[in-house]
Amino acid sequence: MAKRLDGRLLAARHEASLRSAIAQHLATAGCTTCPPGLAVVRVGDDPASGVYVRKKAQACGRVGIESRIIHHPATASQQQVLESIHQLNGSPSCNGILVQLPIPSTLNARQLLLAVDPAKDVDGLHPLNLGRLMRGEPGLRSCTPAGVMALLDHAGIALDGIRALVIGRSILVGRPMGIMLQQANATVTVAHSRTRDLVDHCRQAELLVVAAGKPGLVGADWVRPGAVVVDVGIHRVPPQQQGTQGTLRGDVCFAAVEPLASHITPVPGGVGPMTVAMLLCNTVQAWQRCTAPPA
Ligand code: NAP
Repeated sequence: MAKRLDGRLLAARHEASLRSAIAQHLATAGCTTCPPGLAVVRVGDDPASGVYVRKKAQACGRVGIESRIIHHPATASQQQVLESIHQLNGSPSCNGILVQLPIPSTLNARQLLLAVDPAKDVDGLHPLNLGRLMRGEPGLRSCTPAGVMALLDHAGIALDGIRALVIGRSILVGRPMGIMLQQANATVTVAHSRTRDLVDHCRQAELLVVAAGKPGLVGADWVRPGAVVVDVGIHRVPPQQQGTQGTLRGDVCFAAVEPLASHITPVPGGVGPMTVAMLLCNTVQAWQRCTAPPA
């Protein structure tokens, strides 16, 4: 039976160390320094986004980050949203800016992400931060793949030379995930909707990171016995199917895969809490950089 990679537990540990890092930095930086601040820019009323934004705000409250939500109606213009990003870029009390995706298709999400000051880009989605990741230079890293790396590291999973398969190549998850694993010396294949013989690739993988956004895509017959299985997918289960399996599920058939994997992330309680924890880490990192006393 696989060992569960408990994202809630590890996220709570990260929160505890961030709380003390904030208190310590405030004590050394002096009374003129404000606590860290995170602003979430939300456009429209996507219900799942509403839940995520609330969870992020609650997590900020737990560690001592001041959060604010700038909520635009779905009818907001590109210019209005851009203006609020520009204001946040110039605000000294705002250290991190997050544009909550998805953005209504009437707006240009790429241009909005590009408008965020790279020093405040706590989602790690600005081209400058993605470029730094590509080059292996320090910078703000995409939260979900960084959360997966933290889970693997905490579980002591050796990545050196491991055969890893990432399913999904989005800018948000799959691509940065592939790069981070490669930088940890894994031998990485990134699969996508056009990949031929996906099952064969899966069966060879010693580490499987599934971020396809397809509920239950990976079943037991796709998984090599003893593999590490990380499920990034999050899907709401329709009320009529909820039964004992709860309200959320992932891209992996958890009950079928758990008996044969060596490690597995549950959904919920695996990658999701770690994504939020990495957002907090990035915000505190951005705050420490801009409030550090001059060398
Ligand atoms: P996305 O932008 O829709 O990308 C999905 C990727 O999976 C694409 O690259 C797509 O290939 C590939 N794909 C789709 N169907 C496939 C199939 N049958 N076989 C192989 N590849 C397939 O999604 P995303 O933003 O990366 O998110 C993926 C999932 O993770 C979603 O369920 C999302 O809700 C979840 N998520 C969770 C967290 C968290 O904190 N746990 C954070 C972010 C996202 P093409 O490129 O060829 O289209």
